[in-house]
Amino acid sequence: MFQVSDTRLILLGTKGGPRVSKGRANPANVVVVNGRSYVVDCGYGVTRQLVDAGIEAHEVCTILITHNHSDHMLELGPLVYTAWAGGLREPIDVWGPPPVGKIVASFLDYMAYDIDIRIADEGRPDLRKLVRVHEFEAPSGVSSAGSATVFERDGLKVSVARVRHPPIAHAYAYRFDTPGRSIVLSGDTTYAPELIALARGADVLVHEVMHLEGLDRLLSRVPNATSLRKHLIDSHTTTEQLGHVAAEAGVRTLVLSHFVPGDDPSITDAMWSEGVRRNFSGEIVVGRDLMTI
Ligand SMILES: [Zn+2]
Repeated sequence: MFQVSDTRLILLGTKGGPRVSKGRANPANVVVVNGRSYVVDCGYGVTRQLVDAGIEAHEVCTILITHNHSDHMLELGPLVYTAWAGGLREPIDVWGPPPVGKIVASFLDYMAYDIDIRIADEGRPDLRKLVRVHEFEAPSGVSSAGSATVFERDGLKVSVARVRHPPIAHAYAYRFDTPGRSIVLSGDTTYAPELIALARGADVLVHEVMHLEGLDRLLSRVPNATSLRKHLIDSHTTTEQLGHVAAEAGVRTLVLSHFVPGDDPSITDAMWSEGVRRNFSGEIVVGRDLMTI
């Protein structure tokens, strides 16, 4: 019998951006459904965070990538490799937007020397035959044509919508539906009606968030501030915008994650919630690494 408790989400890394710093790890999540682990995004550190959450790499059956910015896929290849090093015998599925096929193929080529040695020396199966990459293009638009089923398996349905994260054309959000629970992960996006449609009525929406005043403090420390600020405003969601998104989608619980800036201790949890709360009256969870939801 399917129980609500059979579906849980663990936030593995909650800091937005490719910089590695103290505190929050880079973006990654895992949804565990009836004991099967589905990883969504593979920022640097995802393997270590999985292990700290009690999940060995070789227990991962499926990986979904929201988009190919490095903070979401830098450790995709190494996670697949580590699953293999840990005894992977069953195929592992990788779903994601172009050019994820080329990215995985290039990684396997980069590791060919080691893989060939271990096949001959340790009797391992060929990793290249165990990785099944499903590169796909999600539909655009807000109507019912705007989302599509990625796959269905054992009572779980995963669907996708294309969100707005310029200049990346292929930026996706994913929705997990089980008989007991629905969880949506926004990936990176600015305010997007497509995401609101995908998240309609969900129990849990995990959404990226940006704190404007904190952002300006962050930018005062970097040399490419002007172009970086424009990218961030055009392609991410502020706390106030996020309140509108959650309210319009009618979600029960909103989980803030992918914090930008993600390493400014002067921004308290209350400050992260404040702008969101102006527009959303549901439950707000300020995400932390290794938090289970
Ligand atoms: Zn991004």
